[in-house]
Amino acid sequence: MEKVTLHDKTFRLLYSHDELCDAVKMCADKISADYKDKEPLFISVLNGSFMFTAELMKRIDVPKGEVCFIKVSSYQDMESTGTVSHLIGLNRTIVGRDIVIVEDMVDSGCSMYNLVNKFKEDGARSIRIATMFIKPNALKFPITVNYVGKELENDFVVGFGLDYNEYGRQLSDLYVLDEN
Ligand code: 5GP
Ligand code: MG
Repeated sequence: MEKVTLHDKTFRLLYSHDELCDAVKMCADKISADYKDKEPLFISVLNGSFMFTAELMKRIDVPKGEVCFIKVSSYQDMESTGTVSHLIGLNRTIVGRDIVIVEDMVDSGCSMYNLVNKFKEDGARSIRIATMFIKPNALKFPITVNYVGKELENDFVVGFGLDYNEYGRQLSDLYVLDEN
């Protein structure tokens, strides 16, 4: 499909599934080489990362790798003005583990900054970030992103796990907001 309409917006094709999977393969090869003799725990951040995680894991060759899924839910704290985030679904210890966070998109870097700090506090031995997409010009937080699928401009994209108000996650290609 060249164009797709979700809710009130139209999006145009940016990268095909094959192009995205070529980029995933390059990440997978690097991770396989780096973690060959380790026992990494891949922590996938739902919902957006489900498709990247599946495509990445299919291509990774790390015999002693484990995969788990978490969700970072944020809600408005009625007592204060700030937004409170908490992490659900991590049902095992990460003390002494080599963690690879599997993320859909790094934008400002806020989510990854907070997650990396939390895993450090919780006693992880090492923490790396693998993200399918990054918007380098939007990065505001001091994080190191170790594995990147595709670098994007500061435009809103959907598909390959990413949604527009919950629509579009299942699209296998990546689409960008069509301003015309
Ligand atoms: P950050 O904390 O780095 O500012 O934001 C990361 C999160 O913002 C991503 O995990 C994703 O949920 C959301 N996000 C950032 N840019 C986009 C985009 O272009 N499309 C969609 N669907 N979500 C985005
Ligand atoms: Mg995300």
